[in-house]
Amino acid sequence: MKINAPRGTNDILPPLSLKWQYIEEKARDLMARYNYQEIRTPIFEYTELFQRGIGETTDVVEKEMYTFTDKSGRSITLRPEGTAGIVRAYLENKLYGQMQPLKLYYIGPMFRYERPQAGRFRQFHQFGVEVFGSNDPALDAEVIVLGVNYLKELGLENLDIYINSIGCPDCRKEYFKDLQEYFNQYRQELCEDCQSRIDRNPMRVLDCKVDNSKEIISNAPSILDYLCADCQEHFARVKDYLSVLGLDYTIDARMVRGLDYYTNTVFEIKYSGLGAQDTILAGGRYNGLAEEIGGKSIPGIGFAAGMERLLLTLEKEKVDLPESSELDIYLVTIGEEARKEAIKLLYQLRNKGYRVETDYLERGMKSQLKAADRLMVKYAIILGDDELAQGKAIIKNMQTGEQEEIALEKILEEDFRKE
Ligand SMILES: [Zn+2]
Ligand SMILES: [Zn+2]
Repeated sequence: MKINAPRGTNDILPPLSLKWQYIEEKARDLMARYNYQEIRTPIFEYTELFQRGIGETTDVVEKEMYTFTDKSGRSITLRPEGTAGIVRAYLENKLYGQMQPLKLYYIGPMFRYERPQAGRFRQFHQFGVEVFGSNDPALDAEVIVLGVNYLKELGLENLDIYINSIGCPDCRKEYFKDLQEYFNQYRQELCEDCQSRIDRNPMRVLDCKVDNSKEIISNAPSILDYLCADCQEHFARVKDYLSVLGLDYTIDARMVRGLDYYTNTVFEIKYSGLGAQDTILAGGRYNGLAEEIGGKSIPGIGFAAGMERLLLTLEKEKVDLPESSELDIYLVTIGEEARKEAIKLLYQLRNKGYRVETDYLERGMKSQLKAADRLMVKYAIILGDDELAQGKAIIKNMQTGEQEEIALEKILEEDFRKE
């Protein structure tokens, strides 16, 4: 029986993998300019980390985690997002002892048991950043601008930025009470999950995937009316910095994000070029998360972007992405003696930094040239036993078709990068 890849997973094949490399390199380049360093944490963690970090009442933890018991009976979960693991690593490795703020980024696979659809998979990839050790609103602005600039540098223009503040546990106490009271009036109109969320965590109702278009949600009390003085000031300063940077944004008072760990600033960057609006990058501040998973109180802020959805958007927008890897030279050989010489030349040219390929299927000259064409090389070097006997080879410019003879010992001095 044929075995296929599990539902919701993808093989990233060449040449598509070139596009992946491209958007990853763009991210790494930007990270260097903003002084973010890469962190790589395990693909799996103890389940408890996500239960405590992301929150028991979130869709992610309630429905979407890949959780299993390992051979020693411990509950393990494939990471559904990047932040909890990085906060765990930050605390475990005492990174708070290093110069703060510490600015980190990651690129890697995440796992959620969701219904697969366009741009949404069970194994998907995220690029994200996390900044620890400072509550400066200028960092909130930096993280938002960083996200915007990443998407812009990839070639996306029609971006809408939504921001909100969801306050701190202090200002949320009053808000939760009023929100509970409000939702209790409409209990029967909400989905079953939300009915239990009203008591456990009423803010989760606001981003319920089932109920989110209902009027009950849009008319719910707004957290912005409940912010304490500190949270109000923090939000005002974030907005100031965004304005200084000339960034247009919309305040969405009902945006709470799907994870429990957020505090203060939350934001989403949506792309509205074609058809429906898609969130392609989102994040927020999470000053309570480190404590939540058993560490000391450390302010943090970050974002994550889904790479699959990002690539889909770039494709829809017809943004130019690399489609093939360019080879410089294809070595065409005819005859056994010439092939030996050509194989030597193959490695010499590669050692000089050229991208070079040759024939491994004993094809005739015509087929070898056809292969060179398909590989879109700039030059073919043709070496037959006849040429070898005269100490020569032929260089063929594959774009113009021009050919010239060259002495064998001169080949390595030739510049094959010129157009
Ligand atoms: Zn507050
Ligand atoms: Zn609901």
